[in-house]
Amino acid sequence: MTLDRDAFFIDGDWAAPVTGDLIEVVSPHTEQVVATVPEGSAADIDAAVAAARRAFDSGPWPRMSPEERIEVVQAFSNLYAGRMGEMAELISTEMGAPLSFSNLAQAPAPWMQIEAFLSIARAYPWEETRAGSLGEVIVRREPVGVVAAIPPWNVPQFTIMSKLVPALLAGCTIVVKPAPETPLDTYLMAELLQEAGVPAGVVNIVAAGREVGEHLVSHPGVDKVAFTGSTAAGRKIAAVCGQQLKRVSLELGGKSAAIVLDDADLAATMEGLKFTALMNSGQACVAQTRILASRSNYSTVVDALAEAVSGMQVGDPLDPATEIGPMVAQRQQERVEKYIALGQEEGARVVIGGNGMPEGLSSGWYVRPTIFADVDNGMRIAQEEIFGPVLSVIPFDDVDDAIRIANDSEYGLAGTVWTGDVESGLDVARRVRTGTYGVNTYTMDFAAPFGGFKNSGIGREFGPEGLSHYTEVKSIYKP
Ligand code: NAD
Repeated sequence: MTLDRDAFFIDGDWAAPVTGDLIEVVSPHTEQVVATVPEGSAADIDAAVAAARRAFDSGPWPRMSPEERIEVVQAFSNLYAGRMGEMAELISTEMGAPLSFSNLAQAPAPWMQIEAFLSIARAYPWEETRAGSLGEVIVRREPVGVVAAIPPWNVPQFTIMSKLVPALLAGCTIVVKPAPETPLDTYLMAELLQEAGVPAGVVNIVAAGREVGEHLVSHPGVDKVAFTGSTAAGRKIAAVCGQQLKRVSLELGGKSAAIVLDDADLAATMEGLKFTALMNSGQACVAQTRILASRSNYSTVVDALAEAVSGMQVGDPLDPATEIGPMVAQRQQERVEKYIALGQEEGARVVIGGNGMPEGLSSGWYVRPTIFADVDNGMRIAQEEIFGPVLSVIPFDDVDDAIRIANDSEYGLAGTVWTGDVESGLDVARRVRTGTYGVNTYTMDFAAPFGGFKNSGIGREFGPEGLSHYTEVKSIYKP
């Protein structure tokens, strides 16, 4: 069956593209074209925003009750649940995530988000009467308007759903601009939205590159921008939104630290780190790529980590046994290789990995899972987001020093502490300046807010806080 597509999803239907430009979706494993889809132009974005604008200004969706919208989103959730296997395979095919990760997270996590947002919406104070200081006040949460959602390629459905679902529940309409690497999953999503009965124009999808993304961000028909991606692009987008006083939320990069305390169960910690440090082949914003170990326990942790990571299977993402797949694109492979060379120039010691293809592979955009030891937190490999399977093990003197090193970062997205004493782990959690933190685990909970301190972003997704970004709050004073 061909995965090729020839239209965009605009105004509730399949719309012919304005230009003949095509995106070639290339398998990171075979380096062969797996599908072509139209590439959006500024004119296609204009059509999508116009449809979203009409649906917001005069369509039924914003005027329906929250309960009526919940019913439609519940139907979407039920349909999504039935297609998760297909969704996981599409995502692995287009961007190379190991199918084991896609089956665990790329497809199920978006569905879990929908269900979590539905629970939140059912209990949300859409309209409440408060005792004000002068009399009764009605406080209403109204939809913010037309939303532009811009996700990255690494967890495409995950980062779309965190915007689409709260937008829908709040009564907004939306234009989604998928990254050019990952358009295919959004076609399946559009079919499910259509089948669920989402009215025309409420969701519009146009895959395109950066420049067309900029056109969408600055479009006068857009009221709010919800962005996930690099910190560099986030800064540009925030500047445009600041100038235009558009609402904006940003989920950006990370360089998270995992603190391994001496009383941690080493075997359980290594199992945990294999996932939290290397999920999605290291292409994860929350990846714990700085491993902090005490000087007294340093070589034990380095050796255990080297052993755990060397045992991970690298290769074809569609092989269910694969744990680490290729990088999304050749430019990403080159970027990671440059960082591996840089780490050596900076004086870090390669414990496993290094540049060159992993054993047994001769094509595909692979890099060897690499562990650097003797890393100083001031090195660029410890400060900059690499976005690949490259870990730095950094020594600390004591817990205070570990927390200082964890906080010595421009980012503040995630972190973990591994310890035999959960209470002392919670003390560490309270002192690290990141938006999310895990003690002996890093499992995102979609009922709780997620987002970044510092250069990792502005605003929160998930939880009631994530829903609130799609509302404007109105106070009505009663006589
Ligand atoms: P990117 O910033 O290059 O692109 C992200 C998306 O924005 C793409 O759709 C791209 O086409 C678009 N885009 C880029 N520049 C734009 C601009 N100026 N105006 C409008 N649109 C623009 O990032 P990427 O390489 O695709 O993704 C990797 C980055 O995403 C990493 O930094 C990672 O940490 C981050 N990320 C963050 C989270 C989070 O929740 N904090 C989640 C996943 C990924």
